[in-house]
Amino acid sequence: MLKVKNIWDEIRVVSDRIDWQRLVWFPGHVPKHNTISWIAILGKLPTKDLLMRMGMRVESRDCLLCDIAGESRDHMFFDCPYSKRCWASVLGLCSLIKGIGGWNEELN
Ligand SMILES: [Zn+2]
Repeated sequence: MLKVKNIWDEIRVVSDRIDWQRLVWFPGHVPKHNTISWIAILGKLPTKDLLMRMGMRVESRDCLLCDIAGESRDHMFFDCPYSKRCWASVLGLCSLIKGIGGWNEELN
């Protein structure tokens, strides 16, 4: 009997599990959030630095959240002063006491 699962298993490329898989895909996830997280982790989020590298014109390279540094994935998620304040609020609401590191530190 022909099953979709068998076809999928035949045509897909099977790779090793990645460290951040459970960070993105978990029960109860919000699909929109997963997709944005996944794209960000892959380094494909259309931040201004990426758009400029692709040859697109952007009005300003500065971060829309703080306007003091260039907009990049790493900056927007963990280096931006505005993002750091947001993370600090979230951590406080969760009663978690920890510093906020950079992209690679937080992803691991
Ligand atoms: Zn910023």
